Amino acid sequence: MTRTAIVTGAAQGIGAAIALRLAEDGMAVAAVDLTESACGDTAEAIRSRGGTAAAIGADVADESAVAAAVRRTVETVGAPTVLVNNAGVTRDNLVFKMTADDWDTVLSVHLRGSFLMARAVQEHMVAAGFGRIVNLSSMSALGNRGQANYSAAKAGLQGLTKTLALELGKFGVTANAVAPGFIETEMTRATARRMGLSFEELRRLAVAGIPVNRAGLPEDVAHLASFLASEQAGFVSGQVVYAAGGPAA
Ligand code: NAD
Repeated sequence: MTRTAIVTGAAQGIGAAIALRLAEDGMAVAAVDLTESACGDTAEAIRSRGGTAAAIGADVADESAVAAAVRRTVETVGAPTVLVNNAGVTRDNLVFKMTADDWDTVLSVHLRGSFLMARAVQEHMVAAGFGRIVNLSSMSALGNRGQANYSAAKAGLQGLTKTLALELGKFGVTANAVAPGFIETEMTRATARRMGLSFEELRRLAVAGIPVNRAGLPEDVAHLASFLASEQAGFVSGQVVYAAGGPAA
């Protein structure tokens, strides 16, 4: 049977790679990002490969926008039973310079956004007796200089993931977190610009600490998300899997 997946933050980077991969796996995909036009290319790429996709604009931190996005998913590509909470932002600063707005923005998108999406989608998962929730955590959950807001959000997502696994397991729903290390995307490019480094310099510094001696690519994360979203992964739940080219230190 064709499953329907919602992938948030699917306009670019890791979210786009996950959306394409889940479509390749045979799922219909709702690609959600801040605006419909932003995720149009991802939906079009899926359709051009013979898949089924909708581009849906929604701010995941906005309760009514989330409800509308899930309704539109049901109407256009079917009731969702797979959810990948990938939308994310950074507002890095050392804690003494971090504004309350920087804190609220990051916590809102990652944590409130993932909660709102999971709460809206679980209804369809419970009705189907099947569901897969994959939340994007990060190596930064272990603590990262300049990222008090982001590391708190990413650690919080691990707690949310485990609780979703506990509450929804009996309905055939699993919830797991993927925690990437350094992945080449616009997010890490923006980090390089903020630090006054070229992307190549930042990547070289990052790779120096990665046992497999390379930076991660969005497809590395998509491959893991594909497994966790698969039918066969039903006995893996409440886990945090680091995709960081080595053990998370
Ligand atoms: P990215 O900045 O390239 O893409 C993030 C996407 O999320 C963008 O398309 C953006 O428009 C969207 N988005 C932001 N706020 C949103 C909102 N309120 N509603 C809907 N969409 C919104 O980032 P990426 O590197 O692809 O990261 C994807 C996820 O992976 C994020 O959760 C990020 O924290 C996490 N992550 C990334 C890395 C990395 O090294 N790149 C490492 C660990 C975790």
